[in-house]
Amino acid sequence: MTKLAKLYYRYGTMNSGKSFDILKIANNYEEQGKKVLIFTSVVDTRHGIGKVTSRVGFQREALLMDEQMMATVERDKPDCVVVDETQFASTEQIDKLAEIVDCLDIPVIAYGLMTDFQGLMFAGSKRLLEIADRIEEIKTVCWYCNRKARFNTRFKDGKAVFTGEQLDIGGNDKYQPLCRKCYMKEKEKNEQVKLLKSEEAKLDNRSDVVDQS
Ligand SMILES: [Zn+2]
Repeated sequence: MTKLAKLYYRYGTMNSGKSFDILKIANNYEEQGKKVLIFTSVVDTRHGIGKVTSRVGFQREALLMDEQMMATVERDKPDCVVVDETQFASTEQIDKLAEIVDCLDIPVIAYGLMTDFQGLMFAGSKRLLEIADRIEEIKTVCWYCNRKARFNTRFKDGKAVFTGEQLDIGGNDKYQPLCRKCYMKEKEKNEQVKLLKSEEAKLDNRSDVVDQS
C-alpha cells in the first residue's frame, strides 16, 4: 500500500526553533539518501534571500517560493518538501503546496508564524489552517515568565510597539515571544505612555497661550 502524502502545518512564535527543525528534517532525509527541497518566502531579508538560518548557528540555501516552485518540484521529485516563513506566502502559494501533496504525492511540511506583531493572522497562515491535513504547534516559553508564548511582540529601541506596517522589511526591530498576559501588559503600558504624552502636549499648548497674553 502506498503512503498518502500530507500537508503539514507547523506554527510557532519567533525563536521557537522552527528553522532548526527544518534543518534537522532535511539532514535526517539526506542521511537516508533521500532528497529534500527547501523553499522559503521571498520577503525574508534577515539573513539574505533564500536562506534558512537557525539561531543556533546552522544555515543552508533555500529556494524561493516563486512561480518556478511547481516546475522545480516536478523535475526534482524530492521525497519531501519543506517550506519556511509561510506566513509571508499568498493564499495561491499555499494552494500550490496542497497541489504538490495531492497531485505529486509528495509530503509538504510548512513552517511559519501564526500571527503578526499585533496578534492578527497572516494570510498564508490562515490558508494553512484552512487546508492543512495536520496542524501542530511548536511551543516555546514567554520571554518574561514561564507561560506559553503566543504573541510575536515587536520592540523598537527596547520598547514594545503596537502600531506600524505588518512587514517591517529592513527595519531594526526585534521580536520577542510573549504570553498573552505579558503582551497585554506591555500594550497597556504603551497606551498609558501615549496618554501621558498627549496630556503633556495639551499642558504645553496651554502654557503657550498663557505666555502670549
Ligand atoms: Zn509572560
